[in-house]
Amino acid sequence: MHEWALASTVLGFLFRELGCRKLEHVVIALGELQNIDWEVFRFALKNIAKTEGLEIKHIEFVRKKAKFYCNRCGHEWTLDDVNLSEEEREAIHFVPEAVHAYVKCPKCGSRDFTVVEGRGVELISFAGEGCNVSALRS
Ligand SMILES: [Zn+2]
Repeated sequence: MHEWALASTVLGFLFRELGCRKLEHVVIALGELQNIDWEVFRFALKNIAKTEGLEIKHIEFVRKKAKFYCNRCGHEWTLDDVNLSEEEREAIHFVPEAVHAYVKCPKCGSRDFTVVEGRGVELISFAGEGCNVSALRS
């Protein structure tokens, strides 16, 4: 149920940190390796907002591709560059840590790699009333 914790964090940032009063839209990127149920997350955002008397009209999610960096040869790649079975992809979706069991560097075969992108939740854009965007630059 970490969708609810995440939703609460995102909303806290928008409404408390930035001071938004109403949101017309918000676009959130979800990492490919972030095990999140989009519909639960959307439901959580809407519900927490409602409970707190806040308003979000439109929520949009985009998927952010996972990116890997080989610690041995410096090669960078994505999940598109490796051959994974349906089951392996599924396993990675549910247990992102499993990526180290199924993925290796397509260039040198090393399993010593870093996940550069694809784990987080990122606020891409938003628009609303009263949002103090300058707070983002500090
Ligand atoms: Zn490599």
